[in-house]
Amino acid sequence: MLVVEDEARLAAALQRGLQAEGFVVDVAGTGPAGLDAVRGGGYDAMILDVMLPGLSGYELVRRIRAEERWLPVLMLSAKDGEYDQADGLDCGADDYLTKPFSYVVLLARLRALLRRGAPQRPAVLSAGDLSLDPARRRVTLAGAEVALTAREYALLAYLIRRPGEVVSKIELLDHVWDASLDTAPNAVEVYVGYLRRKIGRDRLETVRGAGYRLTT
Ligand code: CA
Repeated sequence: MLVVEDEARLAAALQRGLQAEGFVVDVAGTGPAGLDAVRGGGYDAMILDVMLPGLSGYELVRRIRAEERWLPVLMLSAKDGEYDQADGLDCGADDYLTKPFSYVVLLARLRALLRRGAPQRPAVLSAGDLSLDPARRRVTLAGAEVALTAREYALLAYLIRRPGEVVSKIELLDHVWDASLDTAPNAVEVYVGYLRRKIGRDRLETVRGAGYRLTT
């Protein structure tokens, strides 16, 4: 068991408690130290704090998933509203607990995660000869890798979940762009244009007055 927590007292309490339950426990006090420990291998699961020096818990779990390391992750976060459960689960954590938590609840969640075993690697998505691997954030076209910017990737990741369907510009703006920011009204057209240059014009059709469709 790996505990990544920078609050020394909490880390020590978790270590003592889990050792008393028969777990072998290592503690890392920073994000980078946690990442090194996971890369070293040998852990059944990880308890991971969100706010860590060096590298946040979210970023850490994103990186280990990108490296195809599938140990179960239970995230811990302060109840300050700064982060929410959806963020944690989105980035690849398996369960989430808000501080302060009951030790009994933590133990129950941890045992449930261990029973469930390593999470499933997310499936590779495809439309025609285009494929997108969410775990590695990798896009290929007829087997050749396509380099996309973060926004182009987000746009394709949304469209490829609905291949052959018409997706409206409003829906794309809602899901691919941050609604709280001022987004230029033609942002969707602009990025559709960028994406077409990389995946080929015929793979992303404009359906006049309705939206866009990724061909299958
Ligand atoms: Ca912390």
